Amino acid sequence: MALKAQGISKQFTRSGGGSFFAVKETDLELRPGELTVLMGRSGSGKSTLLNMLAGLSKPTTGRIFLEETDLYSLNDKELSKLRNRQIGVIPQGQTALHSLTVRQNVCLPGTMFNKENTVNEYADELLELLDIGLLGDSMPAELSGGELRRMSIARALINKPKLILADEPTGDLDDENTAIVFNALKQKAREGAAVLVVTHETGAESYADIMWRMNGGVLSFSG
Ligand code: ADP
Ligand code: MG
Repeated sequence: MALKAQGISKQFTRSGGGSFFAVKETDLELRPGELTVLMGRSGSGKSTLLNMLAGLSKPTTGRIFLEETDLYSLNDKELSKLRNRQIGVIPQGQTALHSLTVRQNVCLPGTMFNKENTVNEYADELLELLDIGLLGDSMPAELSGGELRRMSIARALINKPKLILADEPTGDLDDENTAIVFNALKQKAREGAAVLVVTHETGAESYADIMWRMNGGVLSFSG
């Protein structure tokens, strides 16, 4: 699904007083079939931008369209329904429910919308794709940090989102795991999703169809 941001910005007020733009007015388009990489230093506004695109934070100015739908013209209920069905957000941290197995964790957002058996099959396919295919019956406490992270990624993909937004998905991973994650996201792009990966991984260029940079809230095209 194509996402188009037109003139979006985000202004924050600091607790001590004073306001500033974490993201300055910008346009951005994410197209189906493409993996877009956004690089930039810590504090440059990457997560703020991603959260706006994900429907989690209303821009101060501008509008965001997912196909024909103006995201922030929807009410909360409509927006969360659209988010659950169409947008896969991979957050910076981990989000395991420790009383559930790995497979159940991955299926959690899926069971609401699909038949249970197909969800389980697709969960196993995603675990396989992320090279943790043998861990479906394990408990999160038995997993390494890198395995937990990949489980969270599988969970974000369970509803076959048409738009995938990943915030530093490889932040705490070694090179081998980083390659697994980028290859999996690249495959989802090839299958037709629009994918945005925020990262400071220098090797990310080799996976990118499109590159952007963020510097002090200013987005610039970098190839
Ligand atoms: P990045 O993801 O590139 O590290 P962020 O988007 O998280 O950067 O943050 C950009 C800037 O906005 C930082 O200076 C940060 O302190 C500030 N910021 C982020 N969220 C808030 C908020 N909710 N309120 C005030 N300032 C914020
Ligand atoms: Mg961030």
